[in-house]
Order: sequence, then C-alpha cells, then structure tokens
Amino acid sequence: MVNIKESCKHRQFEALGTFNEIRIYDCFDDTLLEKAVNRVLEIDDRMSAFKKYSDISNLNRNAGIKPVKVHSETLNLLILSKKISELSGGAFDITVRPVVELWGIGRKYNFIPTKREINKVKKYVNYKDLIIDEKNSSAYLKKVGEAVDLGGIAKGYAADEVKRILVQEEATSAIINLGGNIVTIGERPDSMQWCIGIQNPTAVTGNYFGLLYVSDKTVVTSGVNERFFIKDGIRYHHIIDPRCGKPAKSSLLSVTAVCESSVIADALTTAAFVLGIQRGSKLLQEFDAEAVFVTDELNVIATNGLKSNLTILN
Ligand code: AMP
Ligand code: MG
Repeated sequence: MVNIKESCKHRQFEALGTFNEIRIYDCFDDTLLEKAVNRVLEIDDRMSAFKKYSDISNLNRNAGIKPVKVHSETLNLLILSKKISELSGGAFDITVRPVVELWGIGRKYNFIPTKREINKVKKYVNYKDLIIDEKNSSAYLKKVGEAVDLGGIAKGYAADEVKRILVQEEATSAIINLGGNIVTIGERPDSMQWCIGIQNPTAVTGNYFGLLYVSDKTVVTSGVNERFFIKDGIRYHHIIDPRCGKPAKSSLLSVTAVCESSVIADALTTAAFVLGIQRGSKLLQEFDAEAVFVTDELNVIATNGLKSNLTILN
C-alpha cells in the first residue's frame, strides 16, 4: 500500500522575481519536480527584463535599432500579450516597462516621480509599436526608449507549463503556486476539492478573506498588496494605469480570476484591475473566466458561477 503523504514531493524556490512552490501528491518519479523547476528557471532566463541575456532584454536593448530573433515560446507569449493589450484597449499594455522602471515599486525606496518625469516616459508606452514577425521568429520595438515587461503575464505562462509537464507525466493530484498564480491539478489526495485562500488586499500576505473550492482550475489574483508603499496615507502599488503613468485607481483593491488557463487569468486580472469592475468583468466574461472583486469600500463581489465555490471568512 502507498502512503499518499510520503509520496508528496514538494519544492520551494525563487524565480520570476518571486517565491514559488510546487507540491505533487501522487509522484513516484524523483526527477519530475526537478524537471518542473528547471522549466520555470528556463522561462525566467528567456523572459526576464532583468537578466542581461534574456530574449526580452535583447529586444529592449535593440528598441528603435533592429528586430531581434527570439525563442518561439517568447514569440508566442509576445503575440498573446499584444492581443490582450488590444482587447483590453491598452489597460494591459505589454510595453508599460518604462513607467514601471521609473516608479520602481518594490525596488526603489518610497519614490514618487514628478509629473514631468512621468510624462517623459509615458510616451514610450504603446503596444502598437511592438512589431512581431512570426515568419522570422523576431520582434522589434519601433522607438528607442520603448521596452516590454512580461511581469503581468509570465508567471501564469510558467504555471501552465508546469501543469503541462506534470500532467504529461501522469500526475493527477498537484498544486502549483508561482508567486500567487495558483494552478491545481485534479483533486486533493483525499478526493476533496482544493481550498485556495484569497488574500485580503489590505492585510499582510497570508491573511485571507475568503476560500475558493476548485478542482483542475487556476486561481490568480492581482492586487494592491503585492508590491506597494504608503506615503502620506496614500498607497502606491505596482499595477500601472498606462493612460496616466501612475498606479491604477479603479475603485478596486484586488481582482481574482478562476478559469482554465493561468496565462490568460494572469493577464486578465492585471487588465481588469486597471479597467475597474464593469469593463473588467466584461473582459473576463469574454474568456469564460469567473472572478471575485474586492472594492475599495471592502465589498466582495463574485460572479454567479463562483458563488457556490466561495466561502467568506469573518
Ligand atoms: P500582476 O501582479 O500580474 O497584476 O502584474 C503586475 C506586474 O505587471 C507589475 O509588477 C509590472 O511588471 C507589470 N505591469 C504593471 N502594470 C501593467 C499594465 N497596465 N499592463 C501590463 N503589465 C503591467
Ligand atoms: Mg497579471
């Protein structure tokens, strides 16, 4: 007889600028975790805007100069990112990096740029200037100063990739957490649904306001609590409204999406956060994603398809 606890293999590791964990409950192959972790590190090496030799750094360095060859998976993620940028009317903008870099939220110490500094970099944000040549597997940014940032979508992509690898190796009970992008495979080892805590956006990490019960789904949250600082009573967080070049103010504190694809959920929660509840929920609906919104008045609003899966904690 197999003891399911003994066969749980888990690994915690840093990659994609965040803390990650993979737990496989029916894993009898010692190399499977290694394979999954290495895959995430490989994606990080290709997609990071901080690693000098990544596809993305190469693309950004050559902005306004020349197209650069990128790996096919980078190309595909750029294509999807541009599509979501279009569908969200630029609320999600894959070329937001110059503004993200200026603010440096989570990197610089309580820095608030001037209007002038913001306007100077804001003009470089325009997803339409990302030119993708599928035939040559190359990408190009039209102007010097433009830059791509996959921070709002790469974790979801990597989480889907880990799922693909685990399922291919016949794992039937596993949970993947890449910096809060959760992907569940099958059910828990006790045949119950997975229980995913939804972060309270006004509390420290690990404080949940609700529990979501899901099987075989991804649960992804974008919120004001992930990277932020507070100065003079105002919270400055890491989700930028590309239209004004400042942390988005859309009367939301967080958006959680539940659907099949983590890459889609990742991009959509970032987009929906910027768009606000009405336009955000429309966009989520287009992709059959269910959602939980937390408003700045601390109201919790869940889409109909999720109501029976959600428990609100006191
Ligand atoms: P997430 O936590 O998935 O909502 O992603 C936030 C990260 O995505 C930030 O740290 C930035 O790197 C990037 N980002 C911020 N604002 C936007 C935006 N409007 N569109 C696309 N990416 C963004
Ligand atoms: Mg995102």
